[in-house]
Amino acid sequence: MVRSWMSTHDIVVSYKQSANKQEQIEILADLTASDAETIIEVLKDAGVFNPNDLSFRTCKRCGEKFFTTQASGVVVCETCKRKKARKKMQDKTIKRLKKQIERYEAENEKGMKSLVPSWFVIEHRRGEIEGMKYAISLMEQEGMR
Ligand SMILES: [Zn+2]
Repeated sequence: MVRSWMSTHDIVVSYKQSANKQEQIEILADLTASDAETIIEVLKDAGVFNPNDLSFRTCKRCGEKFFTTQASGVVVCETCKRKKARKKMQDKTIKRLKKQIERYEAENEKGMKSLVPSWFVIEHRRGEIEGMKYAISLMEQEGMR
């Protein structure tokens, strides 16, 4: 929803009167502190949105057509952008977990060789290792989709 001093009517009139529709959508998004998608929804609901007013691009990653109000520099759609950001975060987490697993395994090995092995601690670490490995496999599976 558009939260602002501008009514739907204001937005529609402003859009209809503008020479550069693409640019106007961006301006309206700024004026209403929302985003281009929200403005387009408002215009669609009002029945004045014409997709031909916007230039569409083909996403470099998924091949889907998407619109952008930016004149240049946008080659990846929002969905792919979000996916990429998510994957980056997961890769970081996986790296951290793998490090932790390595540390636990090294500690366990040391523990088993000690004079009085603390089996409780070793077992506990093993459980955690299993849990971390499971979390990694889930994230890797999701990353492949
Ligand atoms: Zn895409």
